[in-house]
Amino acid sequence: RAKALGKSRYEVFDRTMHVQAVGQLALEADLRRALQNQDFILHYQPIVDLRTGDISGLEALVRWQKSTTELIYPGDFISVAEDTGLILDLGMWVLREACETTRAWQLQFPRERPLTISVNLSARQFAQPDLVPQIQHIIADTGIDPETVRLELTESATMANAERAISVLGQLRSLGVRISIDDFGTGYSSLSYLHRFPLDVLKIDRSFVLQMDNAKEGLQIVHTILNLARSLSMEVVAEGVETERHLRKLRALGCEAGQGYYFSRPVNVAGIQALLASPPEWGS
Ligand code: C2E
Ligand code: MG
Ligand code: MG
Ligand code: MG
Repeated sequence: RAKALGKSRYEVFDRTMHVQAVGQLALEADLRRALQNQDFILHYQPIVDLRTGDISGLEALVRWQKSTTELIYPGDFISVAEDTGLILDLGMWVLREACETTRAWQLQFPRERPLTISVNLSARQFAQPDLVPQIQHIIADTGIDPETVRLELTESATMANAERAISVLGQLRSLGVRISIDDFGTGYSSLSYLHRFPLDVLKIDRSFVLQMDNAKEGLQIVHTILNLARSLSMEVVAEGVETERHLRKLRALGCEAGQGYYFSRPVNVAGIQALLASPPEWGS
């Protein structure tokens, strides 16, 4: 013990690093197994048309069903999946599963504007050379109308290499799918570039929706983002709508769509099935 106390700080540091590295390796092995065993599931969160209160779409969010009682959230495994490349297989599984399931819902609950499905794409996926044909393949296989599919990308995933991003986004759009920019405002979008990107939907990060509670500036920021989106002919979805107050303010600003705990947490297939079968009347 006395000896251990006398050890150099470097060794303590090394040991911490070692524990972390072993932890990463164990997690990587676990994730690999989970992928093989199909232990991942999707939850879906409604995206609501703020003008009508209708569910206009869903966002697919992956979870890891580690055991019957343990559900692990993406915050605890997505970054390792990214670092190890496992996100490539996982991401394609998510897209396929989401398109298949949504296609069935579109058939079961037909309407004038079919339900949209939003799927997150990581930076690593976006950098894959065969991304476009892979997505094309999944769209064709599942038979979903590509115009109802929205791929969510973050600013950092796209801005890293603007020229390439513009080209890839153009190719994706040629497939018919729509592009959403996720967590808008948290990255480092260059406003001078934004208009060159073929983007369809801007998702206002929930930090800005939260800020509407405090200062007048909070409202101003959301107002400014809405104007920016309009000038770029983009649709807007506000993330993190948690209260009736958020909803009222967003409506007053003319924001067309919202997503958040006020409407519904992300829920499993049965939960969405129930929401679609008997839609709640939100804030009407
Ligand atoms: P995101 O794409 O921005 O997804 C929204 C996240 O905010 C979800 O967390 C959702 O549960 C949470 N959220 C929704 N409404 C509210 C609200 O009113 N208040 C608060 N505080 N939070 C709300 P989740 O499911 O834990 O996912 C976290 C992130 O993990 C996602 O952020 C996305 O970046 C990533 N992710 C999730 N699924 C996938 C996936 O299939 N592939 C990839 N690459 N990333 C994914
Ligand atoms: Mg998202
Ligand atoms: Mg988001
Ligand atoms: Mg977010």
